[in-house]
Amino acid sequence: MQVSGKIKSKKIVILGTGGTIAGTAAQAGDNLGYTAAQVGIGQLVAALPALASSRFELLSEQVAQVDSKDMDFGVWRALAQRVAHWLAQDQVQGIVITHGTDTLEETAFFLQAVLDPAKPVVLTCAMRPATALAPDGPQNMLDAVAVASHAGARGVVAVCAGVIHGAFDVQKVHTYRLDAFSSRDAGPLGYVEEDRLCLLRNWPSAHAGYGPLAIKNIAIEAQDQSWPRVEIVMNYAGADGRAVRALAADGVQGLVVAGTGNGTLHHALEVALLEAQAGGVRVVRATRCLEGRVLPKAGDALADSQGLSPVKARVALMLELLSKVAKA
Ligand code: ASP
Repeated sequence: MQVSGKIKSKKIVILGTGGTIAGTAAQAGDNLGYTAAQVGIGQLVAALPALASSRFELLSEQVAQVDSKDMDFGVWRALAQRVAHWLAQDQVQGIVITHGTDTLEETAFFLQAVLDPAKPVVLTCAMRPATALAPDGPQNMLDAVAVASHAGARGVVAVCAGVIHGAFDVQKVHTYRLDAFSSRDAGPLGYVEEDRLCLLRNWPSAHAGYGPLAIKNIAIEAQDQSWPRVEIVMNYAGADGRAVRALAADGVQGLVVAGTGNGTLHHALEVALLEAQAGGVRVVRATRCLEGRVLPKAGDALADSQGLSPVKARVALMLELLSKVAKA
């Protein structure tokens, strides 16, 4: 879809995947009882006349229409393919992706890890549906386009409530407030202020080199069912390791454990995880704490998540296992 009639040489592509930003409720005042992923991306873009004054031609494409709590590997694969397709075109300056807030941080990490884009890929979202009395999606979308338009912007970022977060750090931290995301200890990458960017630190770049093999496998070979099975378990009072043994018996290939504090584990859970590891399951230790990272020490029997939250460590482990399959 071409939003503006002007001929402009560079393009920004807006990919729709659903979420609350595309949600509708029967009553305009209802911020809770709505259905996500109802309004098409073309309609969301057309509802923002301010976008017509963009320096760029705006194109939109519906890649999926899901509540992001239901995100799956099929959508990720399709999205990675479409993002890679558009990024490869010289005339494309950047990409905006509309997405639900629930799993936005996982999609952001996934796209950064497999694509490491040299152009901006900006995920945006909303905490209120499009039909709300005061929806937040329209401003978030304008802010996301401002970030995607910025000369020198690169990598996968998220934009919500005027704050720019890097893909490695972003995490949903609130169930209701419009400013629902945090970059935890790293702090935000910057802010969007009336179309201008106030940048505090560098754009995201490569992470541990999952890139080419993983994207090739995702794009060409992997079907949903062939993604490695990686599950998350947690440490808590009374954790006894039975869930770990059941998962190992069921053929799980990787486990991320959300430990307490600095990745500490109930001794019974630790025994079960070490057994699973000895049996060939890859085990990674993250923390259930919101801030901080697991700091490794000499002699640790279980690898740490290198600062990644449990859900991102899970994506990283899936990609690592996927890359090994591709290499074999
Ligand atoms: N459940 C919605 C989603 O993640 C929530 C949201 O977008 O805020 O798609």
